[in-house]
Amino acid sequence: MIVMKFGGTSVGDGEAIKRAAELVHGALQEGRQIVVVVSAMSGVTDALLSAATSAARGDGDTFRHTRWTLSDRHREAIADAISDEDTRLAIVEEVEGLLSDFENLCRSIHILGELTARGSDAVASLGERMAVRIVAAALRERGVQAQAVEATELIITNGQPFDRLRTQHGAASPLMEETRKAARARLLPLLADGVTPVVTGYIAATREGVTTTLGRGGSDYTAAILGACLEAEEVWIWTDVDGVMTADPRVVPEARTLPEISYAEAAELSYFGAKVLHPKTILPAVEQGIPLRILNTFNPTHPGTLIVADARPSHLTVKGITSIKGLSLITVEGRGMLGVPGIAARVFSAVAGEGISVLMISQSSSEQNICFVIRQEATRRALRALEAAFELELARRNVDRIWAQEGVAIVAAVGAGMKGTPGIAAKVFGALGKHGINVISIAQGSSEYNISFVVDEGDMEDAVRYIHEEFDLGRSEC
Ligand code: ASP
Ligand code: MG
Repeated sequence: MIVMKFGGTSVGDGEAIKRAAELVHGALQEGRQIVVVVSAMSGVTDALLSAATSAARGDGDTFRHTRWTLSDRHREAIADAISDEDTRLAIVEEVEGLLSDFENLCRSIHILGELTARGSDAVASLGERMAVRIVAAALRERGVQAQAVEATELIITNGQPFDRLRTQHGAASPLMEETRKAARARLLPLLADGVTPVVTGYIAATREGVTTTLGRGGSDYTAAILGACLEAEEVWIWTDVDGVMTADPRVVPEARTLPEISYAEAAELSYFGAKVLHPKTILPAVEQGIPLRILNTFNPTHPGTLIVADARPSHLTVKGITSIKGLSLITVEGRGMLGVPGIAARVFSAVAGEGISVLMISQSSSEQNICFVIRQEATRRALRALEAAFELELARRNVDRIWAQEGVAIVAAVGAGMKGTPGIAAKVFGALGKHGINVISIAQGSSEYNISFVVDEGDMEDAVRYIHEEFDLGRSEC
């Protein structure tokens, strides 16, 4: 049995939905059992959440407008993906029912002037709930006995961790034992009857049945959770790229798909930019040793990337290069910091108190300088929080300066083969030096899977290209 997940662009319109249905149909004909997991159509979750947020701020129009836009978008997809008139009407009616729930929810949010965790998750869940109905109907048209299933019946999570400062919406954690029982009890009999379940990605419920969500991009997580619970042979993530690549092909034209990587490498590569998978979403599959495959619905014959517990030994040290820009480097410096315990703790708790996430940290052993990287938007808030936290030290000159360098980027060279291999850092930085790229700050975790460094945003793309070239990633075989 295979769990197949289709991302937002892979069900982004009627044509895409038909393609997804074909792929599932094809796999069924090869004699496989399939559990389908579907994301909301691309952009729908964003539209739902931003309408709810604006309703809470007193805007009484946007959500009404959003309702009609979403209605048009789904009707169009239904018209393209489903040919039988009666089926079409039935699905349109179900979708309109969900959209009218959306409007009612937003109306209450507007009246209350507040978006609670529960409200936010209820609204966000609607995108997937609309999508599964369309995909299941498209499959039934192909003679597949498909049934839409709400993951609220399958995935049981803790409560609503509404993390206002961080994400503006929930990211609940699954309770795996209970989820395993619920998912097996609901899905195994369907599969045994020859039914193909089409499950909503991203959403779940508490023990009490309150809808929760697994965090943005959570459909991959759903697929990995179900794969683990059902002991699937593999989990296939259908998306809009040919797997995990050595670098962003828009930056490096020679970038190529990595045929096979380890879980650890996938986690490091997805962390920045590669955006194929969120590392957390891989975990349930990792723990069960279930391989994941990243495939492209728009190029289905491409073999994509296989992610396994331990990749075949490879002569490659660096396998991929990722990068992210729009960042700020914050520095806290002072001669009075040497040997004083607790400075780092206070720096990071001040930043955490603002809900700002830190992407990279570096402190030299002289202890006179701690620097870390955050998203540029958070610069002012971070500086203010740090100035408040170190008011006394600043006055006493134990801390001399707290400052930000905006417009920087992180570039990271990733690969499990880097561990214990001397000379990789020399090669990375040698390549940069040769081309006159200045490195502002450096960090390497003790896993040795990742060397990250900060450069000026304007140097980012060149840095990626030069390292890609230095390690000959466009040509080497994995
Ligand atoms: N629809 C959700 C989101 O956009 C989940 C997903 O796409 O995986 O975050
Ligand atoms: Mg999405």
